[in-house]
Amino acid sequence: EADLSTVDPDVAAAVKAELGRQQSTLEMIASENFAPVSVLEAQGSVLTNKYAEGYPGKRYYGGCEHVDVIENLAIERAKALFGAEHANVQPHSGAQANAAAMVSLLNPGDTILGLDLAHGGHLTHGMKLNFSGKLYNVAAYHVDKETGRVDMAEVERLANEHKPQLIIAGWSAYPRQLDFAEFRRIADSVGAKLMVDMAHFAGLVAAGLHPNPVPYADVVTTTTHKTLGGPRGGIVLSTQEYAKKINSAVFPGQQGGPLEHVIAGKAVALKIAASEEFAERQRRVLEGAKILADRLSQSDAADAGVRVLSGGTDVHLVLVDLVNSTLDGKQAEDRLHEIGITVNRNAVPFDPRPPMVTSGLRVGTPALATRGFGAEDFTEVADIIVRALQPNADDAVLGELRGRVELLAKKHPLYPGLS
Ligand code: PLP
Repeated sequence: EADLSTVDPDVAAAVKAELGRQQSTLEMIASENFAPVSVLEAQGSVLTNKYAEGYPGKRYYGGCEHVDVIENLAIERAKALFGAEHANVQPHSGAQANAAAMVSLLNPGDTILGLDLAHGGHLTHGMKLNFSGKLYNVAAYHVDKETGRVDMAEVERLANEHKPQLIIAGWSAYPRQLDFAEFRRIADSVGAKLMVDMAHFAGLVAAGLHPNPVPYADVVTTTTHKTLGGPRGGIVLSTQEYAKKINSAVFPGQQGGPLEHVIAGKAVALKIAASEEFAERQRRVLEGAKILADRLSQSDAADAGVRVLSGGTDVHLVLVDLVNSTLDGKQAEDRLHEIGITVNRNAVPFDPRPPMVTSGLRVGTPALATRGFGAEDFTEVADIIVRALQPNADDAVLGELRGRVELLAKKHPLYPGLS
């Protein structure tokens, strides 16, 4: 059988180039990570050939005896890791997981209350072009302008005013922990259900370094490829009460055949996430984010108009506020790209610049921690970033910083066995 480079040299060359990019640059997009080779192997396996509509033991296709073993392992590991009564591991993505969860908890025309996209929420929490904004009435809560933290008084006020059927707690760009008990209290006080989208911080929860939302929420959704470090995909966790509704909302409600090769990757990632080695890695994730926030709060950063939103971080990312900088989000992203650091620009709350430009950066540490970065390395990265964001960083300075990035990349080789 001919391999990829023989059948399709164009695709093979682009895959190789992408591997080279990942190996030679520093990945600091907060939603990205490096899946271990074991997960890549599961995903690239013959499981990709199998149709398995239905659930383990209740399939609409023959020949599912082996994928049943795999899907059951993923389900049991997800339940055990997060202490959930029920797990559905079939959602193709985080957005699909949220769609299934919302379909099972809501009727079209119901009201949802989620964090505003411009303040760190996700598209699926009620953005107007997303299914969530089209199917449901949307009320949005915000962060407080002074503290940068979710304004729980506003959540309560909006809940009383709009009487939502569902409150969504979760975020894509927010540097602090949410108060799940308070969200539960507010939801109960207006008869709303509570959904927590822990896509970003699930790895921290797994490691016991972040409060677990499962005891508080009716439904918890997550992706498996962010801090959790597995394949691209989603999971829905719930109490037994919603098990049937969620299963039917995923299949046949939202999806056809599950991606059993990805589910195998999820099973492997969930096994790894229960290990001490994984917990140690998540501790470095948090340590790195704190080092970054501290360095970005020093006077040379402040002099360059750089600020850390909310004054620090409790999670795996730092939100950099460039409202007072001469660099906008796009220019800052491009400048870091130039020296080999990949981040994404991000709107900051109350952003005066348009969404394609923005006044912020979202900088995350999970991928570098997976690469083996520790405190000393994160200190070096943080210094490089602050120096690159100086308004007067010229080509000579940027050249020197690129050299320092290259040294760090060499110090922590990525996928050394792959080429
Ligand atoms: N939920 C949150 C909080 C996210 O940040 C994301 C992805 O960025 C998603 C859901 C959607 O995940 P996916 O991109 O897999 O659809």
